[in-house]
Order: sequence, then C-alpha cells, then structure tokens
Amino acid sequence: MQNPLRHLPSVNELLTAPSVKVLVDRASHNTVVTAARRVLDDVRQQVKTTAHETQVPTASELVDRISDWIHQHDRATLVPVINGTGVLLHTGLGRAPLSNVAVQAVDQIARGYCSLEVDIASGKRSQRNQSVESDLTELTGAEASGVVNNNSAATLLTLSALAQGKEVIVSRGQLVEIGGNFRLPDVMTACGATLREVGTTNKTRLSDYESAINENTGAIMLVHPSNYRVVGFTESVTIEALAALGQKHQIPVVDDIGSGAIVNFERYKLFDEPHAPTSIKKGADLVLFSGDKLVGGPQAGIICGKKKWVEKLTQHPMMRAMRVDKMTLAALAATLKIYRDEKRAQMEIPLLAMLETSVENLKLRADRIKTQLKPAAFDGFIEAVPTSSTLGGGTLPTQQIDSWGIRIDGQVASADRVAEQLRNGQPSIFGRVSEGAYWIDLRTVSPDEDSHLVTAIEGLAKSTATDGESEASAES
Ligand SMILES: *Cc1c(COP(=O)(O)O)cnc(C)c1O
Repeated sequence: MQNPLRHLPSVNELLTAPSVKVLVDRASHNTVVTAARRVLDDVRQQVKTTAHETQVPTASELVDRISDWIHQHDRATLVPVINGTGVLLHTGLGRAPLSNVAVQAVDQIARGYCSLEVDIASGKRSQRNQSVESDLTELTGAEASGVVNNNSAATLLTLSALAQGKEVIVSRGQLVEIGGNFRLPDVMTACGATLREVGTTNKTRLSDYESAINENTGAIMLVHPSNYRVVGFTESVTIEALAALGQKHQIPVVDDIGSGAIVNFERYKLFDEPHAPTSIKKGADLVLFSGDKLVGGPQAGIICGKKKWVEKLTQHPMMRAMRVDKMTLAALAATLKIYRDEKRAQMEIPLLAMLETSVENLKLRADRIKTQLKPAAFDGFIEAVPTSSTLGGGTLPTQQIDSWGIRIDGQVASADRVAEQLRNGQPSIFGRVSEGAYWIDLRTVSPDEDSHLVTAIEGLAKSTATDGESEASAES
C-alpha cells in the first residue's frame, strides 16, 4: 500500500498558494507558518492513528483548516460575559465588577506616568499606599493599613512576619479550606509557623486559648469560616475576649475576615457578614480582608490594624513580592473614596447597587423581557419567575436574596444545551441549570444587557425550531 501522505504538500509549498498568500497579508508570515505546521502535523497524526483509512485533505481543505486555526488562535479567551447566575461575587466570572469612577481612574493612571511613589508637594519619595492609607484608616477606624495582591497574600505575609518559627493558635472550628486548595494548616507550614489547634469543631472556650499560650506563641488567629458553617450546639470566643487575652500576653490577635465589608450589610437583610470596622473596634490587632468581595473593588488583600503590627508586616522582605501595582491602587483608591458618602456608595458601587435593586424592579424587567420575546420563542415554556440570588465569593452560603428572572422549561430544550448555546453566543451568557430548567437571574444582569438576553433567547428558539425540522426531514 502506498503512503497516503506522499501527496501532502510541505509548509513551503503551501505558502506559495495564492489563497495562503492572502492569509499572510491578513495575519503574519509567522502566524501562517505556525498554523500550517500545526495543521500538517494533525493530518500526519490522524493518518497514522487511523491506519491509512482517512482521506488526505485536498489543498483547498488544508487552506481552510489553516484559516480556521488562525481564527481560533486570534480569538480572545478573556472576554466580558453576562452573569445570569445570580451569584453576585462569582469567582469564576471575576467577582466584583468595578464602579465607573474606578474604571476611569485605572484608565487614567495606566496610560502614562503617575505619582505612584512620589510626593507631589515635596518631590520626595513616598509610600506606595499613600493613595489609600487615609481612606482605609478613616473607614475602618484602624491606626494603619497595608495593601497586598489578595487576601491569601495578606494571610501569608501575616504568618511569615509574626509567626515564622513560632506557634499560631487557631480554633479547630475555623480550620477551613478556602477554594482552590488554600488550606490554613498547609499555609502555616509553608510560612514556617506551627499550628496550635485548640477546642473542638463546634466548641472553643477562652480557657482553651489561654492554656495554649507559651513563650513561643507568635499570634492568635481568628478565621472567618466563610462558605462553611457549623450550626447547632456551638460556642466560640468573642474578639473582645481574645483581644484582652492577647494584650495581657503581648501577642497579636489577627482576624482574617476574608469577605469583610466596610459598610453594614444588614441593610440588605444579610446578617453576620464580617464587618472590618467592627472587628477593629472590638480590639483585633490586625484585620485582613479582600478588596474584590464585599468591598466591591479590585482584587486586593487589605490589612488594617495597630501601627506596630501593620509595620511589622509592611517592612517584611516578602512585602515586595506581594505589593500591588498602580492599576490596582488606582481602582482601590477610587472605590474607597466613594465610601466617604455611604449613599453614593449604595448607588455607585456595582455590588451594592445590585443589592439595592428592589424585587419589584427586577420583576418588571423579567416581565418586559418575556413580552419582548416574539410569541414563537418558546411560547408557554418561558416564564418570568421569582428566584433567589446569593452573594458567593466565600460569603455565607445560607443567605438568600429575593430576586426575579427568566426560566426556560427543560421540556422545550434541554437545560444543559440551552446553557451551552447561550454560553457560546455573542455576548456569552452564563445562567443556572436547576430542577431540569435553565434560569437567568436578573439581579446580576445590568439593565442595559436585557436586550442581549431577548436576542439570545430568540436565537435559541430559532435554532431549536430548525433542529426539529431537520430531524423531521431526516425521518421522512
Ligand atoms: C476569600 C477568603 C480568602 C482568600 O481571599 P483572596 O482575596 O481570594 O485571596 C482568605 N480567607 C478568607 C476567610 C476568605 O473568605
């Protein structure tokens, strides 16, 4: 048997074809050469594995494949999406959206040079976090602050600076894993600190902490259990009591509140979400929280607390590897400035604005989307329905927020297929598959995205109708 690959052109032969020259003009020589190599390699591989049964593609088929490869390769993978999941701080979808002023600040600062580490008045070198320091201390009531890349970095830095070669006392009820393999016991080991577990999963008393203190204790740490909750017969020690204990023994008390907020979320009927100013007020020496969770700003790890301990962290050699860039600082500074006026924050911080939106408003939008759909679009199978959103991002999972949305019945189209099709549409839409149906929660969808939902659902109805027809004709 003859080798079917003998007719396969070489990369150089392909490059002389006029249709490939057109591709070179549109993309670049290097891109086309890479694409041609990949496509030819694929063909050779395919012929080898299918034992000569495959047809070797014609020259024009090869050119089409090269063109497809370039097209796929050019397409960005980090793109904006519509979040119809109802999860406000969806880690997979980038957590908190930024406010307009924060986006403008990033735009301005990123484009040119900026006063990142200089003092404009004196011309002297200054601290990198000068743009956020006063707002952070004002808003939380802390003496000093620091900013690192994320809350995990804040935890690493804290443990390295305060407890390397020492013990850290943590309650057994708070030894949690925070998504993506960030387990406190492992983090401790990585920082050279020894975990000193006290109490039990559901009960830890002040005396448990006190009896664990010795001359080698580096810190007492409280960890907000985030997306994990021990319910029922529980007992834990208050920050006030621990702060007093720490003070007595000259040991810093660290409160890792993770999703911590700087305004009170009880306004949104969300109780027990950690609040940075409260933790400071109750006496924590250091409070750690994320910038892109309940604060509604950019990804960052915010450190607030007593000057003595904050400085110990910010002067640690590891700080250099964890410091944030000018874009993050610009976004964070602009976000914090909005919080000076809480009313303004409720309107301008997207996370808070989404929470402020009334259920009546969401119901109106859901009804309007339903009426805008042409009658053929899944008539009878698509409804405006009440649903519930959640905060997500390591906040309390048990708290539900009333909402409204659109539900596409699974009888008319499989929910997984609907999800796949809307995800791969333009723009990409993420919803929720639940109870055999597909749901879009409008609380996390911006009103100016509603028209995209209408178009996408109509496109879906059309393609489902065509599928039906082709199946019918195949049968006849
Ligand atoms: C989310 C969270 C973290 C991790 O924060 P990142 O900013 O995602 O690094 C750490 N600790 C707690 C308690 C959290 O909730």
